[in-house]
Amino acid sequence: MAALESLRQALGPRKVLLDLADRILYRYDAIDTGVTPLAVVLPETTQDVVETLRFAQRAGIPVVPRGSASGLSGGAVPVTEAIVLATNRMTRLKIDPERRVAYAQPGVVTARVSEAAAPYGLYYPPDPASYRQSTIGGNLAENAGGPQCFKKGVTGDYVLELEFVTADGAVHRVGREAYDIAGLLIGSEGTLGVITDSVLRLEPRPRYTRTLMGVFAELEALAEAVARAVRQGAVPAKMEFMDRRCVRAVEEAFALGLPTEAGALLLVDTDGDDLEVVEEELEWMAEACRAAGGVVRVARDAAEAAELWRARRAVSPALGRIRPQRMNEDIVVPRSKLPAVVREILAAAERYPFPLVLFGHIGDGNLHPNILYDPRVDDTRAVMELAHEIARIALQHGGVLSGEHGIGTMKRPFMREALDETTLGVLRDLKRALDPEGLLNPGKVLPD
Ligand SMILES: Cc1cc2nc3c(=O)[nH]c(=O)nc-3n(C[C@H](O)[C@H](O)[C@H](O)COP(=O)(O)OP(=O)(O)OC[C@H]3O[C@@H](n4cnc5c(N)ncnc54)[C@H](O)[C@@H]3O)c2cc1C
Repeated sequence: MAALESLRQALGPRKVLLDLADRILYRYDAIDTGVTPLAVVLPETTQDVVETLRFAQRAGIPVVPRGSASGLSGGAVPVTEAIVLATNRMTRLKIDPERRVAYAQPGVVTARVSEAAAPYGLYYPPDPASYRQSTIGGNLAENAGGPQCFKKGVTGDYVLELEFVTADGAVHRVGREAYDIAGLLIGSEGTLGVITDSVLRLEPRPRYTRTLMGVFAELEALAEAVARAVRQGAVPAKMEFMDRRCVRAVEEAFALGLPTEAGALLLVDTDGDDLEVVEEELEWMAEACRAAGGVVRVARDAAEAAELWRARRAVSPALGRIRPQRMNEDIVVPRSKLPAVVREILAAAERYPFPLVLFGHIGDGNLHPNILYDPRVDDTRAVMELAHEIARIALQHGGVLSGEHGIGTMKRPFMREALDETTLGVLRDLKRALDPEGLLNPGKVLPD
């Protein structure tokens, strides 16, 4: 397209990729593949973003913002011919230890924020398991969570200011006051504006951490233990679980010495600055596990704790050995409903030929049921049907579709059941107010 050549001339050939061999690499994320983009723009400044959006508006071409494409809901996948605007080169990062904040552009890789803050005894708590790949821009756009979110909250809880550019090329710098426009952008999945800068709150790193693993015969017993401990007031830093099939998959792939006879594993960290309190809280957790029939192993030192946590981090790579593709759900249900929800999901999966595994951040009731399949031989409509059944189970128990991965394309078909028409109408009005021509990340979040 001749017009795209003019964009390349305006921004320079380093920043605008037009060759098919380059463009084809920008049509996927970690779960889905879409349409090859017309062009890929790699902005280095906010002004580059402004010029790209103004150009796109004049030419009537949709724009898909993109970070590291580690997303699990299809958010960065173009569903129509579009410009992919990948903010990975906007990597300026500055720590202000006095204010305890990080100034982070969207292309900063998440883990870099805590690394840069470490010399000041500070860290950035939101910790998606993908933190060595994902970017701050992607985290903000998905309101990413992580193992620590039960105690520490999610990305949005750490945002003090945002800079973003709307589809008309206007630059906005907003805090959290009045209508909390920053809050509106957080979790908007690239559909309302392109995030170009942020001010993020940092926290002092806790002095002590203690870790345990609980081994259970059944997942329901694990859910009981968690519900009991939280009822008693425990607020562990991390509470992650893996079901039977996850445990076996990890053990077969990495031979970490996990108990393969286990029905479910629970991993818990408690942390804080008072060692007595940290250890007492771990003991509460241990007691709750034992009361629910679990066997507890407390890590003796940091090395053993790291070894226990390796198991959880190994889940994603291990699952790829069972089937090459997965439909990764991200439901959140009230903790008290966990045993019933788990039972119903497992019963639904029995009716389909696909292996299903469960893991996730159980403290928040955030489950990741993963349907494993092979797109070359399996019926992908049946995969979607099972995903829909699981979404319905969550909704029937008062839950929501997504805790942290976003709606994207994958959960968009379920939105009509998740939200009433009035609420969907308000969301559409907001979208129209910020992006009247619907050029920003079309085909995501809102159903037609
Ligand atoms: C193995 C694995 C583990 C994971 N674990 C977790 C986890 O524990 N918690 C969790 O929350 N997620 C997790 N994820 C999902 C994913 O890493 C997060 O959603 C992450 O926030 C995506 O960041 P990204 O930079 O890769 O964004 P992308 O995937 O590139 O984009 C995600 C969305 O953000 C939008 N976007 C990107 N940059 C911008 C920008 N500058 N302005 C506006 N919109 C933008 C895109 O349009 C898209 O809608 C995991 C993924 C994998 C593969």
